[in-house]
Amino acid sequence: MLTLWFGGVPAWAATVERVEVAADHVVLHFDARVAGASAVLLDGPQRIAIDVAGATPGGVSTTDGPVLRVRQGVYRDGARIVLDLAQPAIVSEGRFGADGMTLTLALRTVSDARFARAAAEGKLRYLPPFSYGGRAIPASYSVTTPIPAPRAQLALPRVYGDDDSRPLVVIDAGHGGIDPGAISPTTGLKEKDVTLRIARAIRDELLASGRVRVALTRDDDRFLVLQERYGVARKLKADLFISVHCDSVGGGDASGASVYTLSEVASDKEAARLAARENKADIIQGINLGEASPDISSLLIDLTQRETMNNSASFAQLLGREARPLVPVKSNFHRMASLVVLKAPDMPSILFETGYISNPRDAAFIDSREGRARIAESVRRAVDIHFARRLASN
Ligand code: ZN
Repeated sequence: MLTLWFGGVPAWAATVERVEVAADHVVLHFDARVAGASAVLLDGPQRIAIDVAGATPGGVSTTDGPVLRVRQGVYRDGARIVLDLAQPAIVSEGRFGADGMTLTLALRTVSDARFARAAAEGKLRYLPPFSYGGRAIPASYSVTTPIPAPRAQLALPRVYGDDDSRPLVVIDAGHGGIDPGAISPTTGLKEKDVTLRIARAIRDELLASGRVRVALTRDDDRFLVLQERYGVARKLKADLFISVHCDSVGGGDASGASVYTLSEVASDKEAARLAARENKADIIQGINLGEASPDISSLLIDLTQRETMNNSASFAQLLGREARPLVPVKSNFHRMASLVVLKAPDMPSILFETGYISNPRDAAFIDSREGRARIAESVRRAVDIHFARRLASN
């Protein structure tokens, strides 16, 4: 019965009517039965996020006790209610009312350390009472299942190529999962799908050369925060990191590929605009999923970054030279911007904007077999020369 329950959750159209916060509990009122809810603790700043499947945000809120403010927004296929905390508090218990139209969560104030531990434990899930044949079954009507937090530990991806003496190139397909990236206004083509296909094509081309090992940060449609992308590459001790994206503009017919390397100062206005857009990948419906952990933040000011930035820039220029005969490129191919995904201090990193998804001609090219093959060949040529030079200088 549990299986039926999970598998066939209908899309109830309920609205969040009221969120009442008291000193030690919070009550969510809905105007109809909801499909289910979950709560998750988010640290830095401390918040409690409550996701209600199949519900529309709305309604008024009151605050009290540890809760400073209540915010509501659309999240996935439901509503997200965020409780901004004035002091650390955890959800100690949660249950739906018998009619499935109220959810009560007990709050308990705790120490910062206890909050951090609870935040790492993951999500608590609640289900409304199960109605069967018009009769509510009162027993075990709240189910609590801790779901491992996605960021608790990084699962390392597969490394292709078995000669460990070969340098490792990590290819990062931009966006994924709940973050589609840019979307073509004419065809609905999503950046996250295009980048994954290109990343796989680059992997296959590099592996065929036999000169490097390759790993992908993602090989399916999943969401990764920006830190996880370069975090995976650093854990694997990658020698080169290539993040694959597609550019997009609201108006005009901008076209062509470009490559970005890290700089705290953007090289031009368009570079600054691009950085603002790509760095936003972590912020979904106002919730910042990629808040820096202390160890990563301190890495950003590492002084070895200077040399890495130079290596990244020389690879970017090589890629420009090799891509020009194969792929339509912008006249100012290599540009600089403050991009979070390029902030590994010790690993040459570039962000490759392969073309404009907002431009129908570019989009058709970068999402064709021929286009992918040409992009992959440019990368393979640049990678060959990059590592050959490095070998020669050693
Ligand atoms: Zn992108």
